[in-house]
Order: sequence, then structure tokens, then C-alpha cells
Amino acid sequence: MNLDVIVIGAGAAGMMCAAQAGARGRRVLLIDHATTIGERIRISGGGRCNFTNRTVSAANYLSQNPHFCRSALARFTPQHFIAMIEARRIAYHEREHGQLFCDDSAEQIIAMLRDACDGAGVRWALNCAVQNVERHDSGAPHRYTITTDQGRFQCQSLVIATGGLAIPKLGATPFGYRLAEQFGIPVIPPKPALVPLALPPELLTALKPLSGATLDAKAQVDAAQFRENVLITHRGLSGPAILQISSYWQMQDYHSGKKQPVDIDLLPGIDISAWLAEHRQSKLILPNLLAEHLPRRFAHEWCALQGNPRLLERPISELSNRDLADVAAGLKSWSLMPSGTLGFAKAEVTLGGVSTDALSSKTMEATATPGLYFIGEVVDVTGWLGGYNFQWAWSSGWVAGQCV
Ligand SMILES: Cc1cc2nc3c(=O)[nH]c(=O)nc-3n(C[C@H](O)[C@H](O)[C@H](O)COP(=O)(O)OP(=O)(O)OC[C@H]3O[C@@H](n4cnc5c(N)ncnc54)[C@H](O)[C@@H]3O)c2cc1C
Repeated sequence: MNLDVIVIGAGAAGMMCAAQAGARGRRVLLIDHATTIGERIRISGGGRCNFTNRTVSAANYLSQNPHFCRSALARFTPQHFIAMIEARRIAYHEREHGQLFCDDSAEQIIAMLRDACDGAGVRWALNCAVQNVERHDSGAPHRYTITTDQGRFQCQSLVIATGGLAIPKLGATPFGYRLAEQFGIPVIPPKPALVPLALPPELLTALKPLSGATLDAKAQVDAAQFRENVLITHRGLSGPAILQISSYWQMQDYHSGKKQPVDIDLLPGIDISAWLAEHRQSKLILPNLLAEHLPRRFAHEWCALQGNPRLLERPISELSNRDLADVAAGLKSWSLMPSGTLGFAKAEVTLGGVSTDALSSKTMEATATPGLYFIGEVVDVTGWLGGYNFQWAWSSGWVAGQCV
């Protein structure tokens, strides 16, 4: 079958790109190895898909080239996607931090994209395994031949939209990275991101009584910091603040080679030394005072973890200035050393991917391999939690769809 465009990966980016290219009159085939399309959209946002964010900028993304995503995000903005949602009459609502969710179901987004593809004449090859991709000389009538278990297809433009490695049981594969390597395109080593952090056994044992505790806290790694909930689990740390900071955390600091801690400010926005000074003559024991701002059980266990029995036994008025200074410093920066992450099985996205150095930020085409495009999560552009990853999928898919 001769086509203008083949898109591999019928997820968020792939469907957006295919629908756009089809609407321009291109003959498009959309291939996926799964039997159902948009699986990641379906499970996103607890089934309601956090499809974008009110304010999106390059500052919300991680990449070796932090400017790369600017062009696509500026050409297809959250407002453009919201206009599509509204035209389709999909009801949505805004949650904290500008996150937009469907009122009813993520299925509505999948149906919208599927119908856009169908309306633009896109053909589908689902449950289709790609076996081989060949590129032909510039004189050949077609640039690419794709051999699959459903036959051979030829096209001028080949778009790779196979996503990252998060949640392998949903069909994630390293296909896009392998294909990039086949054409000599560098790949930044993929790592799990937006992922819970694991703690070493001795710390887990100490924190076990706190499992289930949720705190409004600020998690920090180097200059990156997020104030949201931190959740202590039986395996380590989770909750939005930890998922966000996990994208910045590395097992070893790049420069010093030392293990990197995550610092947690347990009382963000409070001048802890001044607050403790106000209660200098208090007859309460410290955990009971801390319970004004922290869950009571947590306050108690945290004090027990400090290795200073006086904090649990003596009233605040009998603690030394040194005791209180140590407590203030510990509350401001509770430094925890994760032993790793919970891996791709529990990650929401993949950090790293196809190097942006090899791609045009205007078209997503590989600069040294004409006709080959990479879009969505397979590219080394990773968003924060909050709708930013879908926005990147829509924006990168849309810009590629204008020129394939
Ligand atoms: C649990 C969870 C919740 C999430 N919630 C949100 C959210 O609310 N908001 C947000 O912005 N982001 C969210 N994300 C991230 C978001 O889902 C992804 O960033 C986004 O789906 C990436 O789009 P994509 O098109 O690049 O890849 P995908 O949507 O992953 O699509 C890739 C497609 O390629 C196919 N494929 C893979 N390998 C092959 C192969 N070898 N051959 C053929 N086809 C292949 C897959 O079957 C899939 O259909 C969530 C992710 C997870 C895991």
C-alpha cells in the first residue's frame, strides 16, 4: 500500500498528528501494536484525563535543551486544545494549579481524536507488529518501507509516536529509541519520572508507623521545589510533591558523584524558629505543639526519629536552645536519601528519549534524516505533573501534522 504518511503509535501524539495530516489531504496510515487505541489517555487523571493546563511554558518541562519545546507549544497552545474540547461539547473543569480535567470520562478525548482521524480519512492498522523499517535512496519513489505482520507499506513521511517506557503492561516499548538508533540519532538514556521514590530498609522500618500519612510540604532537590502533598507509603514516598521532584532527583549528583537527598520542608511558609521562640515557655511536649501544624501521629514519630529522647519526655520550656535549633533545622529541611525509584512499572512518564539536538523544533523532523519525525513522549521533553505531558503530545503531534 502506498501512502504519504505512516504514523506508528496511536496514542495522544500519534492520533493528533494523523488527524492533522489527513485533514490536509495526505493519505495516512496509523499503526499500533495494541488492539485498543489511546490506552494511556483512558487511564489518565484517574479516568478523567488531565488533558492540559491553563498556563503552559517551557519552564514546565525537562529536557537537555529546555528551549526546544517552545516553538511547538507556542503554535498549538492549551487554548487550541480547549477549543477542540469545547467544539465537541466535552464538559470539563479546572482543579488546583490550572489543571483541566473532563467532567465525565477520558474516553471522550479518545473518541474525539478517533473521530477526527476517521473524518480525515486516516486508515488504521491495529494489532499490527512492525518488523522492519527501511529507508531508500533519495531517487526512490518512496522514502520508507515498513514491513509488518499485516503486510508492507510505503510512505514519504514516517512519524514515530510510540511513547516512552512507563507502565510496560500498557504496551510501552523501546521501539522509538531503537528506530532512532537505527538511523544514527542519539537517545538520551530513558529514566522513570513522575514516579514514587523508594527508601532504604532501615528508614522504611523507622517510617513504617507513618505509612499513610499525608503532609502539605515542600520537596526540594537542588533548585527545584514543589509544594504539594507528600504521602508516606509502605515502600517510600509518593504524593504530587514527590512525583514532581522525582523527575529532578538522581541517584548520584552529576557533579559531586555523591548520593542525592530529597529535602522536605515540613512547615512551608512558617518561620519555624520564630514560632518555637513564641512557645519557649510552653509546658507542652514538642510533638503536641507540632500537632498544631502536622498530623499528630506524624509529629510524634518524627520527634522519635530525631534520636533525642528529651523531645518526647521534657516540656518545651526545659529543652535547650540547641535542641530547639536542631528541631527548627530538621523541620525546615528533613533530608531523606532515597534508595531509588519504583521504576517504570509505577512511573507516569519517561525522562530522556530521542535527542532534541537531532530534531527540528518547528517540524519535529530529524534534521539529518528527511521524512523521519519523532513526536510526543518518545522525544527528550518531559512535562511536570498537571496536564503538561498531554499538551506536549498535542503540540508536537500538531506541528508535525502540518508538514508531514
Ligand atoms: C497512569 C498514567 C496517568 C497519566 N495521566 C496523565 C494526565 O492526567 N495528564 C498528562 O498530561 N499526562 C498524563 N500521563 C502521561 C501521558 O499519558 C503521556 O505523556 C502521553 O500519553 C504521551 O503520549 P504519546 O502519544 O507520546 O504516547 P502514548 O500515549 O504512550 O502512545 C504510544 C502508542 O504507541 C504504541 N506503541 C508502543 N510501542 C509500539 C510498537 N512497538 N509498535 C506499534 N505501536 C507501539 C502504544 O500502544 C501506544 O498506543 C499519564 C501517564 C500514565 C502512565
